[in-house]
Amino acid sequence: MGTTTTQLDTATTATGTTRLPDSLCTHTPKCPSADSPAAEAARVVAGHPEQGWSLLCNDVVVFDDTGELLPDGRVIDPHRPLAITA
Ligand SMILES: [Zn+2]
Repeated sequence: MGTTTTQLDTATTATGTTRLPDSLCTHTPKCPSADSPAAEAARVVAGHPEQGWSLLCNDVVVFDDTGELLPDGRVIDPHRPLAITA
């Protein structure tokens, strides 16, 4: 039978307390820091689309709805372009 089981080894490690180094950024030039307005332009180092979030190399967590969680615990509200009809 030609069943190809593509097993994605996305280890569902339920680690609630993942210690992160100061900066995961190894890019040149350096990506925008977490407190930069362009923070979300940093590279994704760990994408979890199935959970709706991605970790950027500046320790910012970006959510599907464009909300962000900064390394210091601050939360940025979603700011995706919404089709707001007045
Ligand atoms: Zn980077």
